[in-house]
Amino acid sequence: MNLLVTGAAGFIGSAYARMLLAPGAAEASGVTRITVLDKLTYAGSLDNLDLTHPGLTFVRGDICDTELVDRLMARASQVVHFAAESHVDRSIAAAGEFVRTNVAGTQTLLDAALRHGVERFVHVSTDEVYGSVESGSSVEEDPLSPNSPYAASKAASDLVALSYHRTHGLDVRVTRCSNNYGPRQFPEKIVPLFITSLLDGGDVPLYGDGLNRRDWLHVEDHCRAIELVRTQGTPGDVYNIGGGTELSNQELTRQLLAACGADWSRVRHVPDRKGHDRRYSIEDAKARRELGYRPRHDFASGLAATVAWYRDNRSWWVPLKSRMTA
Ligand code: NAD
Repeated sequence: MNLLVTGAAGFIGSAYARMLLAPGAAEASGVTRITVLDKLTYAGSLDNLDLTHPGLTFVRGDICDTELVDRLMARASQVVHFAAESHVDRSIAAAGEFVRTNVAGTQTLLDAALRHGVERFVHVSTDEVYGSVESGSSVEEDPLSPNSPYAASKAASDLVALSYHRTHGLDVRVTRCSNNYGPRQFPEKIVPLFITSLLDGGDVPLYGDGLNRRDWLHVEDHCRAIELVRTQGTPGDVYNIGGGTELSNQELTRQLLAACGADWSRVRHVPDRKGHDRRYSIEDAKARRELGYRPRHDFASGLAATVAWYRDNRSWWVPLKSRMTA
């Protein structure tokens, strides 16, 4: 079966492709070919993929390109859709690309999937669509209340995706996960930004009072959950995917400092992000109950392994970081 995976030169999509291309994985997944469609924006890198793997076809292109998407969709049985503009701070600075890629791009893919009778379409989304939750945890039926332009564009794409199920009967499944961490995350996001700065002897910028709270999910647990949704989920359903480790940014910073052998003197307090959501929290009982999902990575060892990966792979992130500051 040929699976079209969008955005798999990025952080999570490439981990998902690696999982499906691992020796012996095809027997369980039924996926014999992965076709990756990725525009290679600043966030995508060919270094994240094994281009010599016989089961992988890489196509550089835009999910908004109707003709290209149409051609690829004609050969695909199923789709897992990761491609997105994904960094909240960039959406605050300029939202246009977020609406174009995340909303119009998703709709372009859905239209083509419908035209070609694609049997399944997994849309990867985020807990940020529920907005900030002061207490308790968001469930799949909660109303969406996104606050940043990034979250709003993801919420819009979720709704468009689900409308193709309700209106046209397309088998769409939506996942909403918490903050991912792990190797190969672009060094603008908090975990790799802090690790790479600390490894380089620099300081780390902590927003506001540092008390914003997030749940942390190892990227490999997230990928296993997506695969459970793809293979065992229900058409038209939404699945929250959590990691089970809720931390304030201050607590996360302390753990990162300890893992990198640094202390609090390396923290630089900076003005808070505009409209910074205080807390995200999702209830993922549905994925646990219906799909048997359980995160396997414990946060402390997952974080230690992530720090070790960045320490051992400077050649991966140094060029990306110098492009960020150029
Ligand atoms: P990423 O920014 O690392 O990768 C995004 C990939 O999409 C890149 O390879 C980029 O080149 C590609 N892309 C961007 N615009 C494109 C376009 N117009 N056409 C084709 N390709 C394009 O993102 P990520 O962290 O791997 O996130 C993947 C998905 O997971 C996104 O949909 C994101 O919203 C969602 N998500 C991420 C997190 C997280 O913690 N990273 C949490 C929840 C949900």
